[in-house]
Amino acid sequence: MFVVMAVGATEEELNAVRAVVLDEGLTPHENRGGERVVVAVLGEGGPRIDRLADRLSAMPGVESVNPSNRPFKLASRQFHPDDTVIRVGDVAIGDGSFTIMAGPCAVESREQLLETALAVKAAGATVLRGGAFKPRTSPYAFQGLGLAGLRFLAEARELTGLPVVTEVMEPGQVEHVAEYADILQIGARNMQNYSLLMAVGRTGRPVLLKRGLSGTIEEWLMAAEYVLSSGNPNVILCERGIRTFETYTRNTLDLAAVPLLHQLTHLPVVIDPSHATGRRWLVRPLALGAAAVGADGILVEVHPRPEEALSDGDQSVTLAQFAEIAAAVRPLHALVKAQGRDEILSPTQLRVDGGRH
Ligand code: PEP
Ligand code: MN
Repeated sequence: MFVVMAVGATEEELNAVRAVVLDEGLTPHENRGGERVVVAVLGEGGPRIDRLADRLSAMPGVESVNPSNRPFKLASRQFHPDDTVIRVGDVAIGDGSFTIMAGPCAVESREQLLETALAVKAAGATVLRGGAFKPRTSPYAFQGLGLAGLRFLAEARELTGLPVVTEVMEPGQVEHVAEYADILQIGARNMQNYSLLMAVGRTGRPVLLKRGLSGTIEEWLMAAEYVLSSGNPNVILCERGIRTFETYTRNTLDLAAVPLLHQLTHLPVVIDPSHATGRRWLVRPLALGAAAVGADGILVEVHPRPEEALSDGDQSVTLAQFAEIAAAVRPLHALVKAQGRDEILSPTQLRVDGGRH
């Protein structure tokens, strides 16, 4: 349930609403960012909720009390009607610009990372990616350089000025990785690792939350809700393809997720065409697809010599191919943006079902 305060409602009126919610054993959580203050009522309301809604509706300063028909609250557009804009240094993600995050799947050496970082920066990337801790399917595969990789990422940031996104795989690593990373990546395999989500939530550092291999949109938004409810409003959603019966591509890119998420949530949404396809030559068309459906950016794997890559070489584009992709997506994004945004539908107009959780 969301309590929408009237424009100009006083602090006393808001305090009174808060007190009534707390009195019911529930938790009020406010969004003060928009024109009106919105109070999300968090917790299991049970049968008392209708009576509470009536009581709150009658209170001075309350404009409306809206039921919430979805399990995610803080991630919902009902709670936060305006888009969330995440600022990392000079970069803004979700402000209508198209953020290009690029770099190697894994940091393999100082030279490989610095060469890639300089090239992607020159081609227009605004965030550098690179894994230091790698979640590999095989325990015998290259697992990443760990701490040395984080140090190289920090050096690449110094050199290029690009903020860095890198994966954190377990709660015990979070503080350590946060010392080096500007954005903490939660990998697809960890989308529902709730202790990890809460740990990155407590840092306040922006989080790039990848969609799980078989995560529904609702499960994904509930994962975001864990980060948000731990006190961290800075979540970027990353669609990276889901597991289907198709085998010609590594995963199946769910492009419809982008406009759908823009209705359901205020959080920025980016697309990873590299993991979505697993094929270098498919990255460009799907990066264009990302711009066409209104994504807030892309995350692309780039390697100076993909045939020598220690992970994900087949889907890594060369430095030259990356420059072409970056040059191609920008004008398309501008064209799509010039056509205006989709109208935001009301919860009743938006007839979608949640599914399992
Ligand atoms: C990655 O970004 O290199 C990665 C491991 O991605 P995902 O978690 O989407 O598989
Ligand atoms: Mn990868």
